[in-house]
Amino acid sequence: MLLGLRDEPMIYLHGATIYTSRGKIEQGAMICIGEAIRAIGRADDLPCPVSAQSIDLSGLSLVPGFIDLQINGAFGMDFTSNPDCIWQVGEQITRFGVIAFLPTIISSPDETIQHAQAVLQNGPPSNYQGARALGLHLEGPYLNPEKSGAHEPSNLRLPDPKVYGQWNPSTQVRMVTLAPELPGGIQAIKLLAEKGVLVSAGHSQASFNQAMDGIQAGIRYGTHLFNAMPPLDHREPGLAGALLGDTRCAAGMIVDGYHVHPTMVKLAWNSLGIQRTSLVTDAMAALSMPPGTYELGKRHLQVDGTTARLEDGRLAGSLLSLDVALRNLMEFTGCSLDEALPTITQVPARLLSLEPSIGGLKPGAAADFVILNSALDVVEVWINGRTTRPVE
Ligand code: ZN
Repeated sequence: MLLGLRDEPMIYLHGATIYTSRGKIEQGAMICIGEAIRAIGRADDLPCPVSAQSIDLSGLSLVPGFIDLQINGAFGMDFTSNPDCIWQVGEQITRFGVIAFLPTIISSPDETIQHAQAVLQNGPPSNYQGARALGLHLEGPYLNPEKSGAHEPSNLRLPDPKVYGQWNPSTQVRMVTLAPELPGGIQAIKLLAEKGVLVSAGHSQASFNQAMDGIQAGIRYGTHLFNAMPPLDHREPGLAGALLGDTRCAAGMIVDGYHVHPTMVKLAWNSLGIQRTSLVTDAMAALSMPPGTYELGKRHLQVDGTTARLEDGRLAGSLLSLDVALRNLMEFTGCSLDEALPTITQVPARLLSLEPSIGGLKPGAAADFVILNSALDVVEVWINGRTTRPVE
């Protein structure tokens, strides 16, 4: 291994189109030392340092690593049923370009949430080379029973300050989805937002006015826009209308072609724009697995190879990966890679206050990046200046 300053490995990647935080560079070059990016420029202006290992990426694209704010599991494993599998899934989801994620726990008893908090608190196993688990996304239990979706109704409850008062990034809770219209909802939003938790409205029947009260209290995100909320109505815009209309909020969308009609994806994209659109997978245990029956919390879902459904046919979680979501957004809206990338890099990083170290390619940032071929398939993923397991 060739070494740079302070005996850290120095890597020189060149020839790729590099999607930096300040725009795209054709025939670019990037120097990484140890875990960080040191310099980015045109290859002509940024020659290979003598002590660096040179990697030729001609014909490929080098983009920031992807961040998933909502994922329930994959590869046959479900975080809510067994929070111990978070690191195993984290090691494997790098194949989709994911460098960081919020393991999502759906409405559960307090003990399950505490178990998941402990798994993150204890940290990954030694020699872990997977995606960073940045904290939990607690989707519930403070949801509207009328929009419970795949959540077990007996696990839903009203906000309890004794419980949510313990939730903050240092106790591994990074994001909470709740229904703002529940009694005590506004107080919960205020306290969680104050503590630095990203508070999101979802699984909700909120009217437009109730949604606006929630946003006023600190809601800054909408969980799977259009799903598990009243439809957009021209006289009663509801939660969906409030999220689209208020520039303080971003909204997550499951762009698998099943959860939201491609035309609605395009309308939402036109309304939210690059800075407020956030793609999530909401993937469940069957991602990357054959058809069959899979768990999501207490529910057993039927998986047919394209969707996961409850017995009554309603969608529950997805089989989507973030690289596919990116390509779908481009197809449904006609936007460029340049425009689509922030929805899974910069935007989630900003919402979780991860910038400037994660979320974009710039000097000083973590050397987390994805190499894509011309079909936008993931070829290789690097985290902290190291390659992760090869993409199969
Ligand atoms: Zn949901």
